[in-house]
Parts: sequence; structure tokens; C-alpha cells
Amino acid sequence: MLGLTKLAVGPGNVALAERPEPRPGPDEVVVEVAAAGICGTDLHIHDGEYATEVPVTMGHEVSGTVVELGDGVDPDWREARVVTETYYSTCGVCELCRAGRINLCPERRSIGTHVDGGFAPRVLLPARGLHRIPDWLDATVAALAEPLACVCHSLLEPERVGADDEVLVVGPGPVGLLAAEVAKARGARVHVRGTARDERRLEAARELGFATSVVGEQLNAPADVVVECSGHESGMAFGLESVRRGGRYVQIGLAGKRIAVKLTLEDGQGNVKALSRKLQVPGR
Ligand SMILES: [Zn+2]
Ligand SMILES: [Zn+2]
Repeated sequence: MLGLTKLAVGPGNVALAERPEPRPGPDEVVVEVAAAGICGTDLHIHDGEYATEVPVTMGHEVSGTVVELGDGVDPDWREARVVTETYYSTCGVCELCRAGRINLCPERRSIGTHVDGGFAPRVLLPARGLHRIPDWLDATVAALAEPLACVCHSLLEPERVGADDEVLVVGPGPVGLLAAEVAKARGARVHVRGTARDERRLEAARELGFATSVVGEQLNAPADVVVECSGHESGMAFGLESVRRGGRYVQIGLAGKRIAVKLTLEDGQGNVKALSRKLQVPGR
């Protein structure tokens, strides 16, 4: 079976390569892949900026159909249309696992980074991570369930966006637009910010009913909540400048490398204040 595979660490080293055919062990299934999203993380993996256990087939935003069941899997899963969580395994005993927060387990091994993922015709998955999707939901759209879940974790658990908040989303890519939709669903007013190069994405944002602006344009007022989805140093700097006093700043975009972000503010007379006075630093 061919999979789009990260073959060795460092930049590049990605190619279609022959990979072992998945065989389900106990409590595992094989899913025939219908669609797999290309995540920003996949681009970082390509560029050698994200830890992977090579060789590994990439792809963690997967939808498809269950075609093989291992021992102990409920037969109801056979032929089910599904999406999946990205964890292949977690330790099950650490404090976070026992609290049900398995996404934060330090021993977490995920598809597309530690074990073969969804850029292949079939993928091996633990049955416990499957979620059934309704018949009416297109499989390509369903592959967005994973980034949508990330956005919901970031904005709603605990809640960081409320009704009537002015929300600024920096970075109008798919995750930025999903974040804008989630904020809108909470009753917030949302503004989406991009660069001149993002014009097509900003047009999509306007079609979805959001106000937009590009780098260089002024904002009318500081935001109650900034959701940074670009992962770019300049986007983060702009976001930190644009949040109001006592506001909230949520970092979703990954920089993939060491960057410099100014965590002090100047008051115009050369006095410097710690940014933490401006931000509510969430206790997590
Ligand atoms: Zn992703
Ligand atoms: Zn754990």
C-alpha cells in the first residue's frame, strides 16, 4: 500500500512510499480513507519543523468507512462512515489521562506523526477514537471535524468567547475561518484579519458574513478576544497589540520555530508594562 510518507527527519524527505498493509489488532479497526485534510502541521512536518517518528505516513484529519474489525470491536462499526480522533495510543495512567484529557497525555502517540496516518488508502485506528458521521454529511467536509474539534477545545473548554464579545481572528486559513464560525455561534461579533496575499480567503470570510481587514489597515477598537491562527510572528505581535485591557488572547497557530514576541507594552512615554496586566492569563 502506498502512503505519502515522511521518510527521514529534516526539511523535505516526503514521498509516496510502500507502507505495511494495516491489520487490526484487538479493539482496532481499518478505515478506508475517503478524505484527509492537509493541516498546517503537515506543512511543518514536511519542512522538518515538527517532531515525527520516521518513516511515517502523514495525515491526521481523516474521514472514511470502517472496513475491517479487530477482536472485541462492536460489530455495529462495520461499514460505518466515521471521522477519528488523532490519538493512536495514550498511557492511560497519567493524571491527564485519568482526568479524561487524553489529548494532553505526554505519552500520546498520534496518527500521522508516530504511526501511519491517513494520506493512504487505508489507516489503522483504535475503535475508541471513532465518531460516526450522518449520511448527509459529505466525507470531504467531515475531514474538517478534527480541526473544528481543536478550535472548540481552544475557545470553549474553558470558555474564552462569550456572547457580545468583539472577536478578532488573525489568519484567515481554514482554522481561522472555523474559529470565526465557532465564535459567531457563541454570539460574538467577529472580525477576520489577513495579509494582502490572503485575498481569496478573506473573500470567503466575507461570504460567511464576517468583517475583514488586511495588514496596514487600522482596527476601529481593541478586541475583547484575539484568536491568533496564523502562527506568524507578525500576526502574534498584531494580536497582542490589538487585545483590550483585561481581554483574552488565544494562540492556535503554530510558529514551528523559535520566534520573538514582545510581552511588554509601552505607554507612549517610554514606560514599559508587563503584558500580563493587559491579558487574563488563563489558569491551565
Ligand atoms: Zn491538524
Ligand atoms: Zn497519559
